[in-house]
Amino acid sequence: MKIAAVRTHLLEHRLSVPFESASMRFDRRAHVLVEIECDDGTVGWGECLGPARPNAAVVGAYRNWLIGENPLENEKIWARLYNALRDQGQRGLTLTALSGIDIALWDIKGKHFGASISTLLGGRFRESIRAYATGSFKRDGVDRVEDNALETARYCAEGFHACKIKIGFGVEEDLRVARAVREAIGPDMRLMIDANHGYDVIEAVRFGRAAAELGIDWFEEPAVPEQLGAYREIKASQPIPVAGGETWHSRWGMKEPLETRAVDIIQPDLCGVGGFTEAKRVADMAALHGIRLVPHVWGTAVHLAAALQFMAAMVPNPVRVNPVEPILEFDRTDNPFRQAVVKSPIEHTNGVVQIPNGPGLGIEINRDALAEFRMKDD
Ligand SMILES: [Mg+2]
Repeated sequence: MKIAAVRTHLLEHRLSVPFESASMRFDRRAHVLVEIECDDGTVGWGECLGPARPNAAVVGAYRNWLIGENPLENEKIWARLYNALRDQGQRGLTLTALSGIDIALWDIKGKHFGASISTLLGGRFRESIRAYATGSFKRDGVDRVEDNALETARYCAEGFHACKIKIGFGVEEDLRVARAVREAIGPDMRLMIDANHGYDVIEAVRFGRAAAELGIDWFEEPAVPEQLGAYREIKASQPIPVAGGETWHSRWGMKEPLETRAVDIIQPDLCGVGGFTEAKRVADMAALHGIRLVPHVWGTAVHLAAALQFMAAMVPNPVRVNPVEPILEFDRTDNPFRQAVVKSPIEHTNGVVQIPNGPGLGIEINRDALAEFRMKDD
Protein backbone atom coordinates (compact mmCIF):
# COMPACT_ATOMS: atom_id res chain seq x y z
CA MET A 1 0.00 0.00 0.00
CA LYS A 2 1.47 3.32 -1.09
CA ILE A 3 0.43 6.97 -1.09
CA ALA A 4 -0.47 7.89 -4.69
CA ALA A 5 -1.85 11.44 -4.42
CA VAL A 6 -2.11 14.33 -1.94
CA ARG A 7 -4.76 16.99 -2.62
CA THR A 8 -6.14 20.01 -0.79
CA HIS A 9 -9.69 21.40 -0.97
CA LEU A 10 -10.07 25.10 -0.19
CA LEU A 11 -13.53 26.03 1.05
CA GLU A 12 -15.07 29.44 1.58
CA HIS A 13 -18.29 31.19 2.54
CA ARG A 14 -18.78 34.99 2.64
CA LEU A 15 -20.59 36.00 5.84
CA SER A 16 -23.68 38.19 5.59
CA VAL A 17 -22.93 39.56 9.08
CA PRO A 18 -19.19 39.81 9.84
CA PHE A 19 -18.06 39.16 13.42
CA GLU A 20 -14.99 39.69 15.57
CA SER A 21 -13.01 38.05 18.34
CA ALA A 22 -10.60 40.23 20.29
CA SER A 23 -7.80 39.37 17.88
CA MET A 24 -9.46 38.76 14.52
CA ARG A 25 -12.22 40.00 12.22
CA PHE A 26 -14.17 37.42 10.17
CA ASP A 27 -15.94 38.48 6.99
CA ARG A 28 -15.81 34.94 5.60
CA ARG A 29 -15.30 31.37 6.74
CA ALA A 30 -12.42 29.59 5.03
CA HIS A 31 -11.01 26.15 5.84
CA VAL A 32 -8.85 23.61 4.03
CA LEU A 33 -9.30 19.85 3.85
CA VAL A 34 -6.53 17.39 2.99
CA GLU A 35 -7.25 14.33 0.86
CA ILE A 36 -4.71 11.51 0.58
CA GLU A 37 -5.35 8.75 -1.92
CA CYS A 38 -3.56 5.38 -1.93
CA ASP A 39 -2.71 3.10 -4.84
CA ASP A 40 -5.40 0.61 -3.72
CA GLY A 41 -8.08 3.33 -3.88
CA THR A 42 -8.30 3.99 -0.12
CA VAL A 43 -8.84 7.68 0.61
CA GLY A 44 -8.20 9.49 3.89
CA TRP A 45 -9.30 12.97 4.98
CA GLY A 46 -7.80 15.57 7.26
CA GLU A 47 -8.10 19.27 8.05
CA CYS A 48 -5.64 22.03 8.95
CA LEU A 49 -6.34 24.75 11.51
CA GLY A 50 -5.72 28.30 10.34
CA PRO A 51 -5.56 30.19 7.05
CA ALA A 52 -6.61 28.01 4.14
CA ARG A 53 -4.29 29.05 1.32
CA PRO A 54 -1.03 29.13 3.34
CA ASN A 55 -1.89 25.72 4.85
CA ALA A 56 -2.57 24.30 1.39
CA ALA A 57 0.77 25.63 0.18
CA VAL A 58 2.66 23.89 3.01
CA VAL A 59 0.74 20.63 2.46
CA GLY A 60 1.88 20.97 -1.17
CA ALA A 61 5.46 21.46 0.00
CA TYR A 62 5.28 18.15 1.94
CA ARG A 63 3.83 16.26 -1.04
CA ASN A 64 7.09 14.94 -2.48
CA TRP A 65 8.03 13.36 0.88
CA LEU A 66 4.68 11.53 0.94
CA ILE A 67 4.21 10.07 -2.52
CA GLY A 68 5.23 6.38 -2.57
CA GLU A 69 5.34 6.05 1.25
CA ASN A 70 3.39 3.43 3.20
CA PRO A 71 0.45 5.42 4.71
CA LEU A 72 0.20 3.04 7.70
CA GLU A 73 3.62 4.20 8.97
CA ASN A 74 2.34 7.40 10.56
CA GLU A 75 5.12 7.75 13.16
CA LYS A 76 7.82 7.39 10.51
CA ILE A 77 6.11 9.85 8.19
CA TRP A 78 5.51 12.35 11.03
CA ALA A 79 9.17 12.26 12.06
CA ARG A 80 10.40 12.66 8.48
CA LEU A 81 8.07 15.55 7.61
CA TYR A 82 8.81 17.35 10.86
CA ASN A 83 12.52 16.93 10.33
CA ALA A 84 12.28 18.10 6.71
CA LEU A 85 11.16 21.60 7.77
CA ARG A 86 12.33 21.60 11.40
CA ASP A 87 15.07 24.20 11.03
CA GLN A 88 12.60 26.82 9.78
CA GLY A 89 9.35 25.53 11.20
CA GLN A 90 9.06 24.19 14.74
CA ARG A 91 5.54 25.63 15.04
CA GLY A 92 2.91 27.40 12.95
CA LEU A 93 1.97 26.44 9.41
CA THR A 94 4.47 23.60 9.23
CA LEU A 95 2.62 21.92 12.12
CA THR A 96 -0.94 22.81 11.08
CA ALA A 97 -0.24 21.41 7.59
CA LEU A 98 1.39 18.31 9.10
CA SER A 99 -1.69 17.91 11.33
CA GLY A 100 -4.03 17.71 8.32
CA ILE A 101 -1.76 15.10 6.72
CA ASP A 102 -1.47 13.04 9.92
CA ILE A 103 -5.27 12.99 10.41
CA ALA A 104 -5.74 11.78 6.83
CA LEU A 105 -3.17 9.00 7.41
CA TRP A 106 -5.04 7.84 10.55
CA ASP A 107 -8.29 7.88 8.56
CA ILE A 108 -6.60 5.60 5.99
CA LYS A 109 -5.26 3.34 8.75
CA GLY A 110 -8.74 2.99 10.24
CA LYS A 111 -10.30 2.19 6.87
CA HIS A 112 -7.53 -0.32 6.11
CA PHE A 113 -8.03 -2.21 9.39
CA GLY A 114 -11.82 -1.67 9.53
CA ALA A 115 -11.63 0.10 12.91
CA SER A 116 -12.39 3.57 14.23
CA ILE A 117 -9.40 5.76 15.04
CA SER A 118 -10.46 5.77 18.70
CA THR A 119 -10.18 1.98 18.74
CA LEU A 120 -6.74 2.18 17.13
CA LEU A 121 -5.71 4.77 19.73
CA GLY A 122 -6.43 2.25 22.46
CA GLY A 123 -10.16 2.06 22.97
CA ARG A 124 -13.39 3.97 23.38
CA PHE A 125 -14.06 5.17 26.92
CA ARG A 126 -17.32 6.82 25.79
CA GLU A 127 -19.81 6.64 22.89
CA SER A 128 -21.18 10.16 23.28
CA ILE A 129 -19.95 13.43 24.65
CA ARG A 130 -21.52 16.57 26.06
CA ALA A 131 -20.88 19.59 23.85
CA TYR A 132 -20.47 23.20 24.79
CA ALA A 133 -21.72 25.95 22.49
CA THR A 134 -19.06 28.33 21.19
CA GLY A 135 -20.30 31.61 19.80
CA SER A 136 -21.06 35.05 21.18
CA PHE A 137 -18.61 36.91 19.02
CA LYS A 138 -18.96 40.65 18.56
CA ARG A 139 -21.28 40.96 15.57
CA ASP A 140 -21.51 44.03 13.37
CA GLY A 141 -24.46 46.35 13.83
CA VAL A 142 -25.94 45.01 17.09
CA ASP A 143 -25.66 45.76 20.80
CA ARG A 144 -23.14 43.22 22.07
CA VAL A 145 -24.56 42.90 25.59
CA GLU A 146 -28.09 42.17 24.39
CA ASP A 147 -26.95 40.05 21.43
CA ASN A 148 -24.76 37.75 23.57
CA ALA A 149 -27.47 37.37 26.22
CA LEU A 150 -30.09 36.37 23.62
CA GLU A 151 -27.70 34.01 21.86
CA THR A 152 -26.62 32.15 25.00
CA ALA A 153 -30.23 31.89 26.24
CA ARG A 154 -30.93 30.09 22.96
CA TYR A 155 -28.12 27.59 23.62
CA CYS A 156 -29.61 26.95 27.04
CA ALA A 157 -33.04 26.35 25.46
CA GLU A 158 -31.45 23.96 22.90
CA GLY A 159 -30.22 21.77 25.76
CA PHE A 160 -26.53 22.71 25.93
CA HIS A 161 -25.15 22.35 29.46
CA ALA A 162 -22.37 24.88 28.81
CA CYS A 163 -21.42 27.77 26.56
CA LYS A 164 -18.42 30.01 25.92
CA ILE A 165 -18.48 33.73 25.21
CA LYS A 166 -15.90 36.04 23.68
CA ILE A 167 -14.29 38.81 25.70
CA GLY A 168 -11.12 40.86 25.30
CA PHE A 169 -12.77 44.03 23.99
CA GLY A 170 -12.36 46.07 27.19
CA VAL A 171 -12.83 45.07 30.82
CA GLU A 172 -15.91 47.16 31.65
CA GLU A 173 -17.89 46.22 28.52
CA ASP A 174 -16.82 42.57 28.90
CA LEU A 175 -18.10 42.53 32.48
CA ARG A 176 -21.46 43.91 31.35
CA VAL A 177 -21.64 41.13 28.74
CA ALA A 178 -20.67 38.37 31.21
CA ARG A 179 -23.21 39.57 33.80
CA ALA A 180 -26.00 39.80 31.20
CA VAL A 181 -25.16 36.32 29.91
CA ARG A 182 -25.17 34.79 33.40
CA GLU A 183 -28.53 36.42 34.03
CA ALA A 184 -29.86 35.10 30.69
CA ILE A 185 -28.71 31.48 31.13
CA GLY A 186 -29.43 31.15 34.84
CA PRO A 187 -27.19 29.81 37.60
CA ASP A 188 -26.86 26.18 36.47
CA MET A 189 -25.45 26.39 32.94
CA ARG A 190 -21.65 26.22 32.79
CA LEU A 191 -20.08 29.39 31.38
CA MET A 192 -16.58 29.87 29.94
CA ILE A 193 -14.89 33.03 28.69
CA ASP A 194 -12.34 33.36 25.87
CA ALA A 195 -10.27 36.54 25.52
CA ASN A 196 -8.53 35.34 22.32
CA HIS A 197 -5.35 36.83 23.82
CA GLY A 198 -6.86 40.33 23.82
CA TYR A 199 -5.88 41.35 27.36
CA ASP A 200 -2.65 42.19 29.10
CA VAL A 201 -1.93 40.94 32.62
CA ILE A 202 -3.46 43.93 34.42
CA GLU A 203 -6.72 43.69 32.47
CA ALA A 204 -6.96 39.92 32.82
CA VAL A 205 -6.45 40.04 36.58
CA ARG A 206 -9.01 42.85 36.95
CA PHE A 207 -11.55 40.98 34.87
CA GLY A 208 -10.94 37.64 36.57
CA ARG A 209 -11.32 39.07 40.08
CA ALA A 210 -14.53 40.94 39.17
CA ALA A 211 -16.09 38.08 37.18
CA ALA A 212 -15.28 35.20 39.55
CA GLU A 213 -18.62 35.59 41.37
CA LEU A 214 -20.38 34.74 38.09
CA GLY A 215 -19.20 31.12 38.37
CA ILE A 216 -16.94 30.77 35.33
CA ASP A 217 -15.42 27.40 34.45
CA TRP A 218 -12.37 28.67 32.64
CA PHE A 219 -10.65 31.83 31.36
CA GLU A 220 -9.27 30.99 27.91
CA GLU A 221 -6.26 32.69 26.29
CA PRO A 222 -6.17 35.74 28.57
CA ALA A 223 -2.84 36.92 27.11
CA VAL A 224 -0.80 36.38 23.94
CA PRO A 225 0.41 32.79 23.74
CA GLU A 226 4.11 33.69 23.65
CA GLN A 227 3.95 35.17 27.18
CA LEU A 228 3.96 32.10 29.40
CA GLY A 229 5.05 34.22 32.37
CA ALA A 230 1.90 36.31 31.91
CA TYR A 231 -0.21 33.13 32.05
CA ARG A 232 1.46 32.08 35.28
CA GLU A 233 0.90 35.51 36.81
CA ILE A 234 -2.76 35.64 35.76
CA LYS A 235 -3.28 32.13 37.07
CA ALA A 236 -1.79 33.08 40.44
CA SER A 237 -3.53 36.47 40.75
CA GLN A 238 -7.22 35.79 40.08
CA PRO A 239 -9.53 32.86 40.95
CA ILE A 240 -10.84 31.62 37.56
CA PRO A 241 -8.99 28.54 36.16
CA VAL A 242 -6.84 29.53 33.17
CA ALA A 243 -7.01 27.65 29.86
CA GLY A 244 -4.93 27.88 26.68
CA GLY A 245 -3.00 25.97 24.08
CA GLU A 246 -4.82 26.21 20.74
CA THR A 247 -1.74 27.84 19.20
CA TRP A 248 0.91 25.81 21.03
CA HIS A 249 2.13 23.18 18.62
CA SER A 250 3.85 19.81 19.05
CA ARG A 251 5.12 18.19 22.26
CA TRP A 252 7.88 20.80 22.40
CA GLY A 253 5.39 23.66 22.29
CA MET A 254 3.40 22.06 25.11
CA LYS A 255 6.41 21.20 27.30
CA GLU A 256 6.92 24.50 29.11
CA PRO A 257 3.22 25.37 29.65
CA LEU A 258 2.72 21.92 31.21
CA GLU A 259 5.94 21.71 33.20
CA THR A 260 5.56 25.22 34.63
CA ARG A 261 1.78 24.87 35.12
CA ALA A 262 1.06 28.00 33.06
CA VAL A 263 -2.54 26.77 32.61
CA ASP A 264 -5.07 24.70 34.56
CA ILE A 265 -6.58 23.33 31.34
CA ILE A 266 -4.56 22.62 28.20
CA GLN A 267 -6.37 22.93 24.84
CA PRO A 268 -4.43 21.27 22.00
CA ASP A 269 -6.11 21.37 18.61
CA LEU A 270 -6.02 18.10 16.64
CA CYS A 271 -5.64 20.10 13.41
CA GLY A 272 -2.81 22.23 14.78
CA VAL A 273 -0.79 20.39 17.41
CA GLY A 274 0.40 17.72 14.95
CA GLY A 275 -2.59 15.42 14.38
CA PHE A 276 -3.43 12.26 16.33
CA THR A 277 0.19 11.13 16.46
CA GLU A 278 1.27 14.21 18.42
CA ALA A 279 -1.96 14.88 20.33
CA LYS A 280 -1.65 11.45 21.93
CA ARG A 281 1.79 12.40 23.25
CA VAL A 282 0.47 15.72 24.53
CA ALA A 283 -2.40 13.96 26.33
CA ASP A 284 0.12 11.68 28.02
CA MET A 285 2.22 14.70 29.03
CA ALA A 286 -0.86 16.51 30.43
CA ALA A 287 -1.87 13.42 32.40
CA LEU A 288 1.68 13.13 33.73
CA HIS A 289 1.42 16.66 35.12
CA GLY A 290 -2.18 16.33 36.30
CA ILE A 291 -3.43 19.06 33.97
CA ARG A 292 -6.91 18.76 32.48
CA LEU A 293 -7.19 18.55 28.68
CA VAL A 294 -10.06 19.91 26.57
CA PRO A 295 -9.32 19.98 22.81
CA HIS A 296 -9.85 23.17 20.84
CA VAL A 297 -12.11 22.83 17.76
CA TRP A 298 -12.72 25.40 15.02
CA GLY A 299 -13.44 23.99 11.59
CA THR A 300 -15.62 21.65 9.55
CA ALA A 301 -17.16 18.29 10.42
CA VAL A 302 -13.79 16.69 9.52
CA HIS A 303 -12.20 18.63 12.38
CA LEU A 304 -15.12 17.73 14.67
CA ALA A 305 -14.82 14.06 13.72
CA ALA A 306 -11.09 14.10 14.51
CA ALA A 307 -11.74 15.68 17.91
CA LEU A 308 -14.48 13.15 18.64
CA GLN A 309 -12.27 10.17 17.78
CA PHE A 310 -9.51 11.56 19.98
CA MET A 311 -11.85 12.36 22.86
CA ALA A 312 -13.48 8.92 22.71
CA ALA A 313 -10.08 7.43 23.53
CA MET A 314 -9.03 9.97 26.19
CA VAL A 315 -8.13 8.10 29.37
CA PRO A 316 -9.91 9.54 32.43
CA ASN A 317 -7.38 11.16 34.75
CA PRO A 318 -7.76 9.81 37.32
CA VAL A 319 -9.71 6.68 36.44
CA ARG A 320 -12.53 6.54 38.97
CA VAL A 321 -16.20 5.52 39.22
CA ASN A 322 -17.47 8.93 38.05
CA PRO A 323 -14.56 10.51 36.18
CA VAL A 324 -14.38 14.10 34.94
CA GLU A 325 -15.57 13.79 31.35
CA PRO A 326 -14.08 15.91 28.55
CA ILE A 327 -16.47 18.28 26.78
CA LEU A 328 -16.59 19.01 23.05
CA GLU A 329 -16.19 22.52 21.65
CA PHE A 330 -19.16 22.96 19.30
CA ASP A 331 -19.00 26.05 17.09
CA ARG A 332 -22.44 27.61 16.52
CA THR A 333 -21.38 30.54 14.33
CA ASP A 334 -22.43 30.96 10.70
CA ASN A 335 -20.76 28.38 8.44
CA PRO A 336 -22.98 26.57 5.92
CA PHE A 337 -20.26 24.15 4.80
CA ARG A 338 -19.29 23.02 8.32
CA GLN A 339 -21.73 20.10 8.18
CA ALA A 340 -22.36 20.06 4.42
CA VAL A 341 -18.91 18.53 3.77
CA VAL A 342 -20.07 15.20 5.26
CA LYS A 343 -22.97 13.00 4.19
CA SER A 344 -24.19 12.50 7.79
CA PRO A 345 -23.90 15.78 9.73
CA ILE A 346 -22.34 15.62 13.19
CA GLU A 347 -25.14 17.29 15.13
CA HIS A 348 -26.12 17.48 18.76
CA THR A 349 -29.28 16.32 20.49
CA ASN A 350 -29.95 18.27 23.68
CA GLY A 351 -26.30 19.27 23.75
CA VAL A 352 -24.96 15.71 23.37
CA VAL A 353 -23.03 14.47 20.32
CA GLN A 354 -22.70 10.80 19.38
CA ILE A 355 -19.17 9.68 18.47
CA PRO A 356 -19.07 7.98 15.04
CA ASN A 357 -17.96 4.35 15.20
CA GLY A 358 -17.30 3.62 11.55
CA PRO A 359 -13.79 2.95 10.18
CA GLY A 360 -11.25 5.77 10.48
CA LEU A 361 -12.87 9.12 11.26
CA GLY A 362 -16.28 7.51 10.77
CA ILE A 363 -17.42 10.07 8.20
CA GLU A 364 -18.14 10.13 4.47
CA ILE A 365 -17.24 13.22 2.50
CA ASN A 366 -19.84 14.92 0.32
CA ARG A 367 -17.91 15.95 -2.78
CA ASP A 368 -20.83 18.03 -4.08
CA ALA A 369 -20.34 20.36 -1.09
CA LEU A 370 -16.60 20.62 -1.80
CA ALA A 371 -17.52 21.84 -5.29
CA GLU A 372 -20.29 24.15 -4.07
CA PHE A 373 -18.10 25.91 -1.50
CA ARG A 374 -14.82 25.83 -3.46
CA MET A 375 -12.82 28.98 -2.78
CA LYS A 376 -12.91 31.46 -5.64
CA ASP A 377 -9.68 32.96 -6.86
CA ASP A 378 -9.35 36.40 -5.29
MG1 LIG B 1 -10.15 30.05 21.92
